[in-house]
Amino acid sequence: MSKILIIEDEEKLARFVELELVHEGYEVEKAFDGRAGLDLALTGAYDLILLDVMLPKLNGLEVLRRLRNEKNTPVIMLTARDAVMDKVSGLDAGADDYITKPFAIEELLARIRVALKKSAAASGAVASGEVMEVRGVKLDADRHEVTVNGEPVELTNREFELLKFLMKNRNIVLDRDKLMNEVCGYDYAGETNIIDVYVRYIRTKIDDKYGIKLITTVRGVGYSIKE
Ligand code: CA
Repeated sequence: MSKILIIEDEEKLARFVELELVHEGYEVEKAFDGRAGLDLALTGAYDLILLDVMLPKLNGLEVLRRLRNEKNTPVIMLTARDAVMDKVSGLDAGADDYITKPFAIEELLARIRVALKKSAAASGAVASGEVMEVRGVKLDADRHEVTVNGEPVELTNREFELLKFLMKNRNIVLDRDKLMNEVCGYDYAGETNIIDVYVRYIRTKIDDKYGIKLITTVRGVGYSIKE
């Protein structure tokens, strides 16, 4: 039985989600502020954590950062609508997914199943031997490394996944929905501006720094890496 921790200060919402999860056969514990949540997350053995962003005592992003120093428990962030930067910060800080409030419980349950399945798959990951190179930019999938002319570039997980997918499908124009689905593992209709934010980060770290034009914007469609 999977054990889920809910860290959410809206007690009514936390109780509602708890009831639904218990009904689905999950074991559930709750915390109503960031500090209590972090204590439980660090000491308990949870398969997944649902983490609100706006929390008293310690906000959700800080809880996530401190948790990630110690543990890789899958985390789904609960964020406010339109808070794009919260979503990006959460994903950068190591969240596995996020869901926008208010959400339909069926959608949350689907996200939970995906996150649990992914973490089970990741624990059985094997080497792929995949190394790709375009215009001096080299990406080693197994070592999770990107170098430009031999010099290492620090990318976050999502930036790395986005670059990997673009390099793998070079010379193909990929639309934002497809990229979002690949990078976040879910269909995020209408939230694809997150991809633009990631592309901007990659361009700052690679294109601007090394004077390369790596990722091409295809107006009205999406992005591509051309050889
Ligand atoms: Ca809150």
